Amino acid sequence: MDNASLSRKPPQASELASDEIPEAVRDHPYPEAGASQSKKKGLIWKLLGLAALAFGVSIWLHLNFNFFPATSQAEQSQKNPAAASSPSGSAASPTTKSKPATPDNLLGHLPYPEAPAADLVNVTSDGSIKLRKAAAAKYQEMANAAAYSGIYFAPISGFRSVEDQQHVFFDVKAERRQNASKRAEVSAPPGYSEHHTGYAIDIGDGSAPETNLSQSFDSTQAFKWLEANAPAFSFEMSFPKNNRQGVSYEPWHWRFVGDRQSLETFYKAHSMKK
Ligand SMILES: [Zn+2]
Repeated sequence: MDNASLSRKPPQASELASDEIPEAVRDHPYPEAGASQSKKKGLIWKLLGLAALAFGVSIWLHLNFNFFPATSQAEQSQKNPAAASSPSGSAASPTTKSKPATPDNLLGHLPYPEAPAADLVNVTSDGSIKLRKAAAAKYQEMANAAAYSGIYFAPISGFRSVEDQQHVFFDVKAERRQNASKRAEVSAPPGYSEHHTGYAIDIGDGSAPETNLSQSFDSTQAFKWLEANAPAFSFEMSFPKNNRQGVSYEPWHWRFVGDRQSLETFYKAHSMKK
């Protein structure tokens, strides 16, 4: 910013000074022979005066622009308290510390928009579990491939509205007498669940229903198959052990990242720092 403002105006001032003189001379290229010396002298004095004025203006501008960067920086840190209060505490280097240290999150969960109803399709024949079209198609393909190996997925939960999550978070929290942060270790607050996106699905093992929504799901054949093959169908585990979001390990919860929109939903501006 300093360089830009310094190089912008002062050249205008010097252009003014150097341009004015030749122009004035060109206007009177052939002063009459009889023109008195005093007339000529008068012109020279005028030009000198003009030059002095331009010089003064350029000095004034220079002083101003030495002054400007300091005030604009102060203003910047006032207008952008986030930058001023960033851990580095350095408002003088806004370009290097423009990103906040942690993205917008609530108790470790990130905000997600609800999938448009028109893009949701049934994953189960009774219509109780829905995903977005692209995710549903890939999920079905994946479940068929697993079934081919004798492993049967039991879909437990897909798309959830913010209202559904209201119940999952607050009612169960009250039932279990949990405080908000304790509840948030195992459930996202409404507005912050990956299930809102229509790209996330909780998967159980049809032959081990006792492990449904339990960390012991990771000892099932279904989990082992998923771990080895899910990436081929563009599914990934959202909350592996020791995930950076600090959400508890959920081996049953998988999300689709197989198209641009799903990828952007989960990765754009959501990368957790540390
Ligand atoms: Zn889930």
